[in-house]
Amino acid sequence: MASSTPQIKPYIAIPEEIKVPLDQMDQVIETFPDKYAVVWIAGKFYQSTNHETRTEPVKRRRITQHSWYKTFFCHRGGEKEITGPRKTITSKKRPRQKASKKIGCPAGMRITCYKKDLDNVVFTFKNQHNHAVGTKEDFCLLPVSKATKEFIRQKLREGHDCKEVQRQLNSYVRNNITVENSDEHSQQEVFHRDQISDPNLVYNQYKKMKEAALL
Ligand SMILES: [Zn+2]
Repeated sequence: MASSTPQIKPYIAIPEEIKVPLDQMDQVIETFPDKYAVVWIAGKFYQSTNHETRTEPVKRRRITQHSWYKTFFCHRGGEKEITGPRKTITSKKRPRQKASKKIGCPAGMRITCYKKDLDNVVFTFKNQHNHAVGTKEDFCLLPVSKATKEFIRQKLREGHDCKEVQRQLNSYVRNNITVENSDEHSQQEVFHRDQISDPNLVYNQYKKMKEAALL
């Protein structure tokens, strides 16, 4: 494991295109929530058939350039969750689900592997998000970063109780934020998901570790 303390950095804009070696693809997919404030949900996988035996209309048949591609959609895509009157019977323990996350966002991502370059993949994006990516209202719907989660788990493994871990987490978040010297971020006090404190976060990690017999 890396010994350096992970830094909480402001989100950056998604580039138009990302090209990486095939073996780094999964790693790059994982960086999206922490780096660009977007979570992608895996969609379909399409493989190009070498022998054109598909029953496509003749005029549409052309030589495909891709070997395969995968589609993804934004985690805020899809139907709005119905937040009508609550069913009181089921609402005893669980806190209310976060306000409707799904707002029919049309944004998508595609990862393509081309026949002429099978060792690399290209990430491309289509359609704009219909929500302001990177704003507090939006990133509060993201999961807490992996680094912060790992910090919590580490402290629990060291034997601290939830209250103490929460205290250390607060100072970790305060001390590990990298504020770039730009107007954009200095005006904004809260610019990262991990700065929003969630009273259940530490306890949920504790519970998960307990259930997995890691504590
Ligand atoms: Zn979106």
